[in-house]
Amino acid sequence: MVDLMISATAAHIPTTIEGVDVAIDVEFNPSRGPPYIRKRVRCPLAHHPNCFKYRNVNMGTQMDVVGFLGCWLQNGRNYSDRVSHMKWRPQPVAVQLYLDSCGLAAE
Ligand SMILES: [Zn+2]
Repeated sequence: MVDLMISATAAHIPTTIEGVDVAIDVEFNPSRGPPYIRKRVRCPLAHHPNCFKYRNVNMGTQMDVVGFLGCWLQNGRNYSDRVSHMKWRPQPVAVQLYLDSCGLAAE
């Protein structure tokens, strides 16, 4: 488990997205399969307390993960409350537009 954590930390840059620190969670519930790693960001909006989004690092390339979380953070102001923001999942087209806008177009 510790090895997983170290390799995830080393291999997965950046450590911030949209100015928000990226946390790394190692999830392991033996009844639900092998351990997996996910990145987590916390929404900075004051009226969204405890608003988080997670992305499994195996969901596509590193840029896909950064794009998904960055797009989610960037659009937070469009959601009036935490619940609707946390429910929203950026679609691939929106993620790609976000990456393009950051000059991070996928390889
Ligand atoms: Zn939020």
